[in-house]
Amino acid sequence: MAPMQEHSEVVCEVCRAQLGKIARARQLTDLELSILNQPKREININIPLRMDDGSVRIFPSYRVQYNDSRGPFKGGIRFHPNVKRDEVKELAFLMALKCSLTGIPFGGGKGGVKVDPKQLSERELQRLSRAYIREYADFIGPFKDIPAPDVNTNPKIIGWMLDEYEKIKGVKAPAVITGKPLALGGSEGRLYSTSLGGAIVLREYLKTIGKNGKDVTVAIQGFGNVGSHLAKILHDWGFKIVAVSDSHGGVYNPKGIDTKKILDEAWSGKKLHQAVSHGKAITNEELLELDVEVLVPAAVENVINSINMKKIRARVILEMANGPLTVEADEHLEKNGTMVLPDILANSGGVVVSYFEWVQNLSGHYWSEEEVNAKLEHYMVEAFRETEAERKTEGDSYRRAAYVLAVKRILQAEEDRGNVVRKNGAGK
Ligand code: GLU
Repeated sequence: MAPMQEHSEVVCEVCRAQLGKIARARQLTDLELSILNQPKREININIPLRMDDGSVRIFPSYRVQYNDSRGPFKGGIRFHPNVKRDEVKELAFLMALKCSLTGIPFGGGKGGVKVDPKQLSERELQRLSRAYIREYADFIGPFKDIPAPDVNTNPKIIGWMLDEYEKIKGVKAPAVITGKPLALGGSEGRLYSTSLGGAIVLREYLKTIGKNGKDVTVAIQGFGNVGSHLAKILHDWGFKIVAVSDSHGGVYNPKGIDTKKILDEAWSGKKLHQAVSHGKAITNEELLELDVEVLVPAAVENVINSINMKKIRARVILEMANGPLTVEADEHLEKNGTMVLPDILANSGGVVVSYFEWVQNLSGHYWSEEEVNAKLEHYMVEAFRETEAERKTEGDSYRRAAYVLAVKRILQAEEDRGNVVRKNGAGK
């Protein structure tokens, strides 16, 4: 993952700014806006952890349960040194929108621990993962709040978390968490589902401008699970991957990188800036400013901001990270005609397959990889088409359209629960 860039703009100011615009255009009431503007519940627990050397360290942790009008709270848990309450809150809000936009029956939540997992031993990491679940066990559940992986958490960690939950509750409850290893009730295809979903959104967008992926140039920032699987899928579909980077930097080759080889190297632990045989060594900043058709920020928030926004030359930005653009950058790029395929649409494939995993756990009937991918294709194409239809005018942004649709559905559920009374069909 790329390091979080120090930047003064508030994380996911974009969410607030978009909500403000929708509120004005759709005449949302103060009550509707205050339901959308704040989480239902925020929990903060400082977790004491016994380290291998016998000392005890305290790790701040969070779970924000944003909205559950459409179903149980849903969203990942991230382990990152820059985790903060406000960040988790905004990411939980994005989850509520994402689940609503894709039409899956979940609300939104997010969790995090302020920790650099690279500084922990494997045993410490396992103890921390279990401790997190012990602390939050009464707040989560298959019909309450369903965590999943996020930045720096993976199926192995999720397996420990499930085990801890089941020990505490004394029952088998695989549907309490998604992104599990296959042997513990994980779903086929979940590991690369975020990437496959993003690739489908990009393909559908390119169709609207009469292009297919053939030789379309792509630069990917972030080569973790999401970025690396996206590179593989796009390469298999005929796109030309010209640059990739991880947190230490990357490589650029205008003729196209040998994607299969670099994936083998990355997946066997080699750092990308050491893979210079593939092209010219570049920094993360240089990658973002390359003259490519498609730029994919696939690491962390706010990497495109007021400092570098004027130097962005890509025609399309596929937001595989959550919140990679600041408000200022988003507005600047929109004015400049850069097409932004927003996070709540582009990276929603992960939570869609998390939903499939939950359905399989509850029914006890497991699907093949082909079935999972065919269903994912259906959900992603549908979400893209609905967003495209809502966009109506050429000039409108995909982000605004996606927000309008997502907000409308959340407010519909709030109305059906009797929590709000809609006036004049506002927001409908
Ligand atoms: N962490 C992923 C996201 O931000 C997946 C969440 C989930 O599957 O619940 O969308």
